[in-house]
Amino acid sequence: MCVESVPPPSSRLTRRGVLAGAAALAGTTAALTAAAPRANASTAREGRRTGGDLVVEGGTLLDPATGEVTEDAVVVIADGVVRSAGRRGKAAVPEGAEVLDAHGRWILPGLVEAHIHLNTATEARDAVLLGATSARSGSTNFYQDIAVRELAREAPGQAPRLRAAGIFVTPDLGDTILADPELTPLAKLREGVRSPEALRRVVEVNLARGADVIKTRVNERAGLPEQDPLAQVYDREQLSAVVAAARRGGKGVLCHSYSEKGCHDAVMAGIRSLEHGAFVGERTLHEMRRRGTYFTPTLTAIAGLAESSDPVLAERGRQYLPVLKRAVLAAHELGVPLAAGTDSSGGKIKPIGREVELMRAAGLSALDAIRTATTGAAKLLGLERTAGRLARGFAGDVLLVDGDPLADVTVLKKPVRVVRSGFAL
Ligand SMILES: [Zn+2]
Repeated sequence: MCVESVPPPSSRLTRRGVLAGAAALAGTTAALTAAAPRANASTAREGRRTGGDLVVEGGTLLDPATGEVTEDAVVVIADGVVRSAGRRGKAAVPEGAEVLDAHGRWILPGLVEAHIHLNTATEARDAVLLGATSARSGSTNFYQDIAVRELAREAPGQAPRLRAAGIFVTPDLGDTILADPELTPLAKLREGVRSPEALRRVVEVNLARGADVIKTRVNERAGLPEQDPLAQVYDREQLSAVVAAARRGGKGVLCHSYSEKGCHDAVMAGIRSLEHGAFVGERTLHEMRRRGTYFTPTLTAIAGLAESSDPVLAERGRQYLPVLKRAVLAAHELGVPLAAGTDSSGGKIKPIGREVELMRAAGLSALDAIRTATTGAAKLLGLERTAGRLARGFAGDVLLVDGDPLADVTVLKKPVRVVRSGFAL
């Protein structure tokens, strides 16, 4: 029980070794080799091109930032980056460029998914094909998300541009205790990961492994019938210890929360975004607005519970979904920033367009619902100059959809074509 006897994470923990190990676990090594055959990694890094050249032409372009709609638009992408986007004739189209015909379709930026669990290469690929060209991880079991992030850099068509969370900061690590040898001293702790030292240790191992964000929890899980999602597992002080350790590494915290008090404690502890948050109260929403704390309600996951074959989970879903929808609308009306996230996991990737559909069903306008999966989520991920719009300098990530998303956001659930960093998939 003496956490002071636990040494700090060792310096032998190198990024290279970590990435190789995590890639093997995620089954991504073969995918990488297939996608980018090369003599060795270091030569490929020098001066390599990371994106494709493509001209998307003829469709109706929607800019989520302004709501502006441009008919007969042309988007020019060079080396994976947008060079111009707007009405035909405004920009020179490079001769001989590959052209993607978008006539009769709507052109949107690739969507941003703010809460997803990508434990395998297949899930990463599915997420992109379903429209999420950028994403934030909600943690993985064995650091696969760190490898997925690298996979996305090497072979953009295979994974969303990712903010990785590493492993979940939770009282009981379970099998995840084996994710890193530096975690094993925590197995001696009878009460699990609860002391400030133990909490700090898990955050620091995540940071050493290269996590971009830290994921923790205040409540138990909703998706397991034997757990009570309103039961609190960490108090404000413990959450503050997690936030402080993350901040020392310059990172923000996303926090799984359900109960009114749990949400309040998490927000007061200084988290960057509240995840799920079904019973978030008005005092907490005001505090979130004041602090700029994001709300990622993951309506898709709660709606999924309602369809569960388990009667406890189905009842939970039916009870929580209308409460959560009201919280989403209240948050939006107060000016709390919202981010779309499906909380997909376990091999079943849901289209991020489904979350937009549920944001709309909660009462947001179509444009505001689309913003939760574009400009809004992009800002949460620190990608506001990269993702969420098609404008000069932004990533060449494009969605083609069949129909006007401002009239019917459900078209986003079935993108007819996805372009990732200038590569048409
Ligand atoms: Zn999650």
